[in-house]
Amino acid sequence: MADITLNAVEKHFDGTPALQAITAQIEDGEFVALLGPSGCGKSTLLRLLAGFDAPTRGQISIGAREVANAATNSSVPPEQRNIGFVFQSYALWPHMTVRRNVSFALEVRGLSKADQALHADAALEATGLTSFADRMPADLSGGQRQRVALARCLVSDPEAVLLDEPLANLDVALRATMQQVFLDFHQRTVATMVYVTHDQAEAMAMADRIAVMAEGRIVQFDTPEALYNCPNNRFVAGFVGEGTVLPICEARIGDGGSSARLFGVEIAVRTRDEQPNLLCLRPEDITLCKTGDLRARVLRSTYLGGRYRLTLQTSCGAELLVTSRVRHSVGDQLGLAIGTPWAFYED
Ligand code: ATP
Repeated sequence: MADITLNAVEKHFDGTPALQAITAQIEDGEFVALLGPSGCGKSTLLRLLAGFDAPTRGQISIGAREVANAATNSSVPPEQRNIGFVFQSYALWPHMTVRRNVSFALEVRGLSKADQALHADAALEATGLTSFADRMPADLSGGQRQRVALARCLVSDPEAVLLDEPLANLDVALRATMQQVFLDFHQRTVATMVYVTHDQAEAMAMADRIAVMAEGRIVQFDTPEALYNCPNNRFVAGFVGEGTVLPICEARIGDGGSSARLFGVEIAVRTRDEQPNLLCLRPEDITLCKTGDLRARVLRSTYLGGRYRLTLQTSCGAELLVTSRVRHSVGDQLGLAIGTPWAFYED
């Protein structure tokens, strides 16, 4: 079992907190993404899980074993945590062939040559690298090098794998292919995976759950669908998916449906709160129509292939994003029908 438990974890650098109040549970075999803007603490959290750094406060367990406890000043070293690492920089041995890079950990563990070859060949086959086994890392593409890093994890049979922006150095087309390679790897190993990224599309495409981080805290830890459809706060509403956060008033909450006033017009809303005061308006919540109580003017129009992305400005001055199959010109006046967007409360 390699569930991961973080209990009131903090990390300070020279007295400045980089992580605060991190309490979270990652289930055995779960694929979790740590998502957030630069400097929010993603890599610091991963380093604490790996054992490269120790927490200033709090406690971390992997499976039944406590691996770090600030109160007792104890920390299990990385090599004793049975964890695999995949870095942006690949971290391969440049003077070893692909096969030896993969089998080296087994060599260190003292496995026989025959067993080393057996496990390394299986890992190379699983990552599509059999025909590259005798090449040196310098003679591989970025995607192939990252596959070597994965094969190396596979051969060590880790309980958990920590990945720090592993696709950041690859081009867009290769990223999509490599996402599938990671998903196949996850299915094959059933290892718990913690994947750091600042790319929300990547997190959405791969993770079972995403911990959205801001300023050293986890601000929402949920499935990709829940983060997109039901954000808890203004930061997540604005950071995950395209959308606009707008104030609402006079919310009426009822079993048969809830409503609130937006720009003076009553609209149906979805909510969990008793008195929501903000609304997250996604492009798909807005339909363009000829009439409608809400009116807006086209500020910008960008062709995305098959559809246009429009930035609209309402008569109150608010800017909204909408997609349309029909071309509209800058300055056009349009009517808007609002679907049933998500409303929430924040101080
Ligand atoms: P990025 O996406 O840019 O890699 P991140 O979310 O991974 O960012 P971290 O690298 O975890 O962010 O950094 C979190 C904060 O901690 C930052 O303000 C950073 O400057 C600070 N920090 C990280 N490591 C150290 C260190 N060794 N000494 C001092 N401050 C540090």
